[in-house]
Amino acid sequence: MKAVGLHPDVFVVTSRFWQTTCTLVRSGSEAFCIDSPVLPDELELLPAIAEQAGFRVAGCIATHADWDHLLGRYAFADAPLGVAESSAARLRAEPGAAQRELREFDEEHYVERPFPLSLPAAQALPAPGRCAVGDRELELHPADGHTVDGMALWVPWASVLVCGDYLSPVEIPWISPGGSVAAYQATLDRLEPLVERAAHVVPGHGAVLDPARAAAILREDRSYLSALVERGADAPLPLARRNGAMRRIHAENVARVSA
Ligand SMILES: [Zn+2]
Repeated sequence: MKAVGLHPDVFVVTSRFWQTTCTLVRSGSEAFCIDSPVLPDELELLPAIAEQAGFRVAGCIATHADWDHLLGRYAFADAPLGVAESSAARLRAEPGAAQRELREFDEEHYVERPFPLSLPAAQALPAPGRCAVGDRELELHPADGHTVDGMALWVPWASVLVCGDYLSPVEIPWISPGGSVAAYQATLDRLEPLVERAAHVVPGHGAVLDPARAAAILREDRSYLSALVERGADAPLPLARRNGAMRRIHAENVARVSA
Protein backbone atom coordinates (compact mmCIF):
# COMPACT_ATOMS: atom_id res chain seq x y z
CA MET A 1 0.00 0.00 0.00
CA LYS A 2 1.37 3.37 -1.08
CA ALA A 3 0.89 6.60 0.92
CA VAL A 4 1.31 10.05 -0.66
CA GLY A 5 1.02 13.40 1.13
CA LEU A 6 -0.74 16.09 -0.94
CA HIS A 7 -0.97 18.80 1.71
CA PRO A 8 -0.28 18.90 5.47
CA ASP A 9 -4.00 18.07 5.92
CA VAL A 10 -4.48 15.54 3.10
CA PHE A 11 -2.87 12.23 2.29
CA VAL A 12 -3.85 9.35 0.05
CA VAL A 13 -3.19 5.66 0.45
CA THR A 14 -3.54 3.41 -2.59
CA SER A 15 -4.58 -0.21 -2.28
CA ARG A 16 -2.65 -2.99 -3.99
CA PHE A 17 -6.01 -4.12 -5.35
CA TRP A 18 -7.55 -2.15 -8.24
CA GLN A 19 -5.35 0.79 -7.13
CA THR A 20 -8.35 1.79 -5.01
CA THR A 21 -7.68 5.09 -3.24
CA CYS A 22 -8.45 6.18 0.30
CA THR A 23 -8.06 9.86 1.20
CA LEU A 24 -7.55 11.17 4.74
CA VAL A 25 -8.53 14.80 5.29
CA ARG A 26 -7.90 16.72 8.49
CA SER A 27 -8.87 20.02 9.99
CA GLY A 28 -7.53 20.69 13.47
CA SER A 29 -8.09 17.68 15.68
CA GLU A 30 -10.67 15.98 13.46
CA ALA A 31 -10.12 13.88 10.35
CA PHE A 32 -12.26 11.91 7.90
CA CYS A 33 -11.41 8.79 5.98
CA ILE A 34 -12.85 8.97 2.45
CA ASP A 35 -13.31 5.58 0.72
CA SER A 36 -11.07 2.66 1.64
CA PRO A 37 -8.29 0.29 0.65
CA VAL A 38 -9.49 -3.21 -0.21
CA LEU A 39 -7.19 -5.76 1.41
CA PRO A 40 -7.41 -6.79 5.09
CA ASP A 41 -3.73 -6.06 5.91
CA GLU A 42 -4.08 -2.56 4.43
CA LEU A 43 -7.20 -1.87 6.48
CA GLU A 44 -5.47 -3.18 9.58
CA LEU A 45 -2.50 -0.89 9.04
CA LEU A 46 -4.51 2.23 8.26
CA PRO A 47 -5.25 3.39 11.86
CA ALA A 48 -1.53 3.31 12.70
CA ILE A 49 -0.64 5.26 9.54
CA ALA A 50 -3.32 7.85 10.36
CA GLU A 51 -2.22 8.16 13.97
CA GLN A 52 1.44 8.49 13.04
CA ALA A 53 0.52 11.34 10.68
CA GLY A 54 -1.51 13.00 13.46
CA PHE A 55 -4.90 12.37 11.85
CA ARG A 56 -7.59 11.48 14.39
CA VAL A 57 -10.29 9.86 12.29
CA ALA A 58 -13.76 10.79 13.53
CA GLY A 59 -15.78 9.57 10.57
CA CYS A 60 -15.78 7.53 7.38
CA ILE A 61 -17.16 8.87 4.12
CA ALA A 62 -17.81 6.93 0.91
CA THR A 63 -17.95 8.64 -2.49
CA HIS A 64 -20.54 6.04 -3.57
CA ALA A 65 -22.08 2.81 -2.34
CA ASP A 66 -20.02 0.26 -4.33
CA TRP A 67 -18.63 -2.24 -1.83
CA ASP A 68 -14.97 -1.51 -2.58
CA HIS A 69 -15.39 2.05 -1.27
CA LEU A 70 -17.28 1.09 1.90
CA LEU A 71 -14.62 -0.78 3.89
CA GLY A 72 -13.38 2.09 6.07
CA ARG A 73 -15.10 0.70 9.12
CA TYR A 74 -12.72 -2.27 9.12
CA ALA A 75 -10.08 0.33 10.01
CA PHE A 76 -12.17 2.69 12.13
CA ALA A 77 -14.84 0.49 13.65
CA ASP A 78 -16.51 3.14 15.80
CA ALA A 79 -16.57 5.87 13.17
CA PRO A 80 -19.96 6.85 11.76
CA LEU A 81 -20.38 6.50 7.99
CA GLY A 82 -21.43 9.48 5.89
CA VAL A 83 -22.59 9.18 2.28
CA ALA A 84 -24.49 11.33 -0.21
CA GLU A 85 -28.29 11.23 0.10
CA SER A 86 -28.32 9.31 -3.19
CA SER A 87 -26.00 6.65 -1.71
CA ALA A 88 -27.99 6.41 1.51
CA ALA A 89 -31.10 5.78 -0.59
CA ARG A 90 -29.24 3.14 -2.60
CA LEU A 91 -28.00 1.39 0.57
CA ARG A 92 -31.58 1.35 1.89
CA ALA A 93 -32.92 0.04 -1.42
CA GLU A 94 -30.32 -2.78 -1.66
CA PRO A 95 -29.88 -4.01 1.92
CA GLY A 96 -26.99 -6.48 2.22
CA ALA A 97 -25.83 -5.99 -1.40
CA ALA A 98 -22.43 -4.53 -0.48
CA GLN A 99 -21.81 -7.30 2.07
CA ARG A 100 -22.79 -9.97 -0.47
CA GLU A 101 -20.51 -8.57 -3.18
CA LEU A 102 -17.63 -8.29 -0.70
CA ARG A 103 -18.19 -11.94 0.26
CA GLU A 104 -18.14 -12.97 -3.40
CA PHE A 105 -14.91 -11.05 -3.98
CA ASP A 106 -13.29 -12.57 -0.89
CA GLU A 107 -14.31 -16.09 -1.90
CA GLU A 108 -13.01 -15.66 -5.41
CA HIS A 109 -9.63 -14.32 -4.24
CA TYR A 110 -9.28 -16.46 -1.08
CA VAL A 111 -9.28 -13.35 1.10
CA GLU A 112 -10.03 -13.76 4.80
CA ARG A 113 -11.44 -10.94 6.94
CA PRO A 114 -11.50 -10.73 10.71
CA PHE A 115 -15.30 -10.27 10.79
CA PRO A 116 -18.17 -9.64 8.38
CA LEU A 117 -18.68 -6.07 7.18
CA SER A 118 -21.17 -4.20 9.32
CA LEU A 119 -22.66 -1.08 7.84
CA PRO A 120 -24.60 1.03 10.31
CA ALA A 121 -27.39 3.24 9.01
CA ALA A 122 -25.38 5.74 7.00
CA GLN A 123 -25.69 9.43 7.69
CA ALA A 124 -27.06 11.12 4.55
CA LEU A 125 -25.08 14.19 3.48
CA PRO A 126 -26.52 16.82 1.14
CA ALA A 127 -24.89 16.95 -2.31
CA PRO A 128 -24.71 19.70 -3.42
CA GLY A 129 -23.88 20.84 0.08
CA ARG A 130 -21.21 21.04 2.75
CA CYS A 131 -19.90 18.87 5.51
CA ALA A 132 -18.00 20.19 8.52
CA VAL A 133 -14.64 18.71 9.50
CA GLY A 134 -12.98 20.38 12.49
CA ASP A 135 -13.39 24.13 11.97
CA ARG A 136 -13.56 23.85 8.18
CA GLU A 137 -15.99 22.55 5.57
CA LEU A 138 -15.77 20.10 2.69
CA GLU A 139 -17.81 20.89 -0.43
CA LEU A 140 -19.95 18.03 -1.71
CA HIS A 141 -20.90 17.79 -5.38
CA PRO A 142 -23.28 15.23 -6.89
CA ALA A 143 -21.42 12.64 -8.98
CA ASP A 144 -23.72 10.03 -10.46
CA GLY A 145 -23.62 8.22 -13.80
CA HIS A 146 -21.04 5.53 -12.98
CA THR A 147 -23.72 4.31 -10.59
CA VAL A 148 -27.11 5.74 -9.62
CA ASP A 149 -25.52 7.50 -6.63
CA GLY A 150 -22.41 9.31 -5.54
CA MET A 151 -20.61 12.53 -4.78
CA ALA A 152 -17.27 14.22 -5.31
CA LEU A 153 -15.58 16.06 -2.45
CA TRP A 154 -13.69 19.32 -2.76
CA VAL A 155 -11.21 20.22 -0.02
CA PRO A 156 -11.07 24.04 -0.35
CA TRP A 157 -8.06 24.75 1.88
CA ALA A 158 -5.92 22.19 0.05
CA SER A 159 -7.45 22.52 -3.46
CA VAL A 160 -7.85 18.74 -3.63
CA LEU A 161 -10.67 17.07 -5.56
CA VAL A 162 -11.68 13.55 -4.47
CA CYS A 163 -13.94 12.53 -7.32
CA GLY A 164 -14.94 8.88 -6.77
CA ASP A 165 -15.01 6.59 -9.80
CA TYR A 166 -14.42 9.26 -12.46
CA LEU A 167 -11.25 10.57 -14.15
CA SER A 168 -9.38 7.33 -13.58
CA PRO A 169 -6.05 6.84 -15.36
CA VAL A 170 -6.53 3.05 -15.16
CA GLU A 171 -10.26 2.56 -15.81
CA ILE A 172 -12.46 3.72 -18.68
CA PRO A 173 -15.84 5.29 -17.83
CA TRP A 174 -17.89 2.40 -16.46
CA ILE A 175 -21.65 2.59 -16.72
CA SER A 176 -22.57 0.16 -13.91
CA PRO A 177 -26.11 -1.11 -13.29
CA GLY A 178 -28.12 1.96 -12.29
CA GLY A 179 -25.69 4.33 -14.02
CA SER A 180 -26.31 6.28 -17.23
CA VAL A 181 -24.25 7.96 -19.92
CA ALA A 182 -26.22 11.23 -19.70
CA ALA A 183 -25.72 11.41 -15.92
CA TYR A 184 -22.03 10.52 -16.36
CA GLN A 185 -21.59 13.33 -18.90
CA ALA A 186 -23.34 15.79 -16.57
CA THR A 187 -20.97 14.75 -13.77
CA LEU A 188 -17.94 15.37 -16.02
CA ASP A 189 -19.37 18.86 -16.74
CA ARG A 190 -19.66 19.52 -12.99
CA LEU A 191 -16.16 18.22 -12.29
CA GLU A 192 -14.48 20.27 -15.02
CA PRO A 193 -14.33 23.65 -13.19
CA LEU A 194 -13.14 21.88 -10.04
CA VAL A 195 -10.35 20.15 -11.98
CA GLU A 196 -9.28 23.55 -13.33
CA ARG A 197 -8.92 24.94 -9.78
CA ALA A 198 -7.37 21.80 -8.29
CA ALA A 199 -3.80 21.28 -7.15
CA HIS A 200 -4.43 17.50 -7.10
CA VAL A 201 -7.21 15.20 -8.28
CA VAL A 202 -7.74 11.87 -6.49
CA PRO A 203 -9.62 9.33 -8.65
CA GLY A 204 -11.30 6.32 -7.04
CA HIS A 205 -8.81 4.03 -8.80
CA GLY A 206 -5.28 4.89 -9.92
CA ALA A 207 -2.58 7.42 -9.16
CA VAL A 208 -3.21 10.95 -7.93
CA LEU A 209 -3.35 13.33 -10.91
CA ASP A 210 -2.09 16.84 -11.51
CA PRO A 211 -4.80 19.10 -13.00
CA ALA A 212 -3.42 18.96 -16.57
CA ARG A 213 -3.49 15.15 -16.62
CA ALA A 214 -6.94 15.08 -15.02
CA ALA A 215 -8.23 17.53 -17.65
CA ALA A 216 -6.77 15.34 -20.42
CA ILE A 217 -8.51 12.27 -18.98
CA LEU A 218 -11.74 14.25 -18.72
CA ARG A 219 -11.53 15.09 -22.44
CA GLU A 220 -10.77 11.47 -23.36
CA ASP A 221 -13.67 10.23 -21.25
CA ARG A 222 -16.04 12.69 -22.91
CA SER A 223 -14.97 11.52 -26.37
CA TYR A 224 -15.29 7.89 -25.37
CA LEU A 225 -18.83 8.41 -24.05
CA SER A 226 -20.03 10.26 -27.17
CA ALA A 227 -18.49 7.54 -29.34
CA LEU A 228 -20.15 4.90 -27.16
CA VAL A 229 -23.55 6.45 -27.82
CA GLU A 230 -22.94 6.95 -31.55
CA ARG A 231 -20.91 3.89 -32.48
CA GLY A 232 -21.58 1.34 -29.73
CA ALA A 233 -19.09 -1.53 -29.83
CA ASP A 234 -16.96 0.29 -32.43
CA ALA A 235 -16.22 3.21 -30.09
CA PRO A 236 -12.43 3.46 -29.67
CA LEU A 237 -11.13 3.14 -26.11
CA PRO A 238 -8.83 5.84 -24.71
CA LEU A 239 -5.30 4.98 -25.90
CA ALA A 240 -3.67 4.42 -22.52
CA ARG A 241 -6.61 2.33 -21.28
CA ARG A 242 -6.89 -0.29 -24.01
CA ASN A 243 -6.49 -3.74 -22.47
CA GLY A 244 -8.52 -6.89 -21.93
CA ALA A 245 -10.10 -5.73 -18.67
CA MET A 246 -11.14 -2.40 -20.23
CA ARG A 247 -12.61 -4.22 -23.26
CA ARG A 248 -14.79 -6.22 -20.86
CA ILE A 249 -16.02 -3.00 -19.23
CA HIS A 250 -16.58 -1.57 -22.71
CA ALA A 251 -18.71 -4.60 -23.67
CA GLU A 252 -20.76 -4.09 -20.50
CA ASN A 253 -21.21 -0.41 -21.39
CA VAL A 254 -22.33 -1.31 -24.92
CA ALA A 255 -24.93 -3.74 -23.54
CA ARG A 256 -26.21 -1.12 -21.09
CA VAL A 257 -26.42 1.66 -23.66
CA SER A 258 -28.26 -0.50 -26.19
CA ALA A 259 -30.67 -1.91 -23.57
ZN1 LIG B 1 -14.70 1.63 -7.43
